[in-house]
Amino acid sequence: AKAQGRNRLQRFALGLDATSALALLQENRLREALRAGRLLLHYQPLIDLDSGEVRRVEALVRWNDPVEGLIPPERFIPLAEECGLIDAIGAWVVDEALRQLAEWHRQGLDWLKMAVNLSACQLESRELPQAIAEALARHGLRPSHLELEITESAALRDPENAAQVLTRLNGMGVALALDDFGTGYSSLSHLKLLPVASLKMDRSFVRGIDSDPEDAAICAATIALAHELQLNVVAEGVENASQLDKLKRLGCDLVQGFHFSHPLEADRLAALLGSGARP
Ligand code: C2E
Ligand code: CA
Ligand code: CA
Ligand code: CA
Repeated sequence: AKAQGRNRLQRFALGLDATSALALLQENRLREALRAGRLLLHYQPLIDLDSGEVRRVEALVRWNDPVEGLIPPERFIPLAEECGLIDAIGAWVVDEALRQLAEWHRQGLDWLKMAVNLSACQLESRELPQAIAEALARHGLRPSHLELEITESAALRDPENAAQVLTRLNGMGVALALDDFGTGYSSLSHLKLLPVASLKMDRSFVRGIDSDPEDAAICAATIALAHELQLNVVAEGVENASQLDKLKRLGCDLVQGFHFSHPLEADRLAALLGSGARP
């Protein structure tokens, strides 16, 4: 990453590449944002369909820029992955999410678990399991309080190394979920190789579950496959009652989406959970 940065600096100095210059500027702003505490997490509940209860929340990172306002992760996570900032950002996300979870536990929400997204690059680091163990210990939490969401492409870049890192995490007792299942470099063999406990069906299939026969067939097959393999299935992007109804009838385990709650700031999410209201 350092050499990459140097190359970019050289090109910048020579005035050869306006795109790189812009990326460099943006990279410096992102580094400054992380240092100045301008990243924050929002939390979205995952609801168990049998009981109607919230089981865990997913932490989703945002960049609060004084000029631009809240910048969504898709506009800076790819940049962070490219310039090597992702390890620092990822470490901050894990620490902040676990700090918040520990606070919620102290407030009586002691049944709550936390799901955190991991980027491909983070899986390349052999120190990741140790770093996560330390973060859990720092906040007095057990590994079973944490679930890590990985994308299939993440696991694919260096499958052997990723499998080793994930197996160690799983051995510690951290749950793993395969995110965006069915998209990207999706391969069923990952299900066999990786120690995952759940599948998250991509919202592109959930969207059409009540209207598009192909989406409905994909969702039905995914749920059946997951259950056949003793895995939990989460449907993400559930936006209305008709999608929810279809998912219930197909035996989906957990749901997440705007129909229940948008991702919320910590205080607002706690108010929602504390009120006893079913989101
Ligand atoms: P994801 O992990 O698939 O997260 C779900 C995304 O869907 C979130 O977007 C969430 O706000 C959005 N969403 C939730 N419910 C609905 C719904 O009912 N309808 C629709 N249309 N969208 C819904 P967000 O927060 O913008 O995050 C986008 C992606 O950025 C995430 O996709 C994840 O891949 C990545 N990301 C977010 N936080 C982190 C992080 O801390 N680390 C890493 N490495 N990636 C992150
Ligand atoms: Ca996710
Ligand atoms: Ca997803
Ligand atoms: Ca996604």
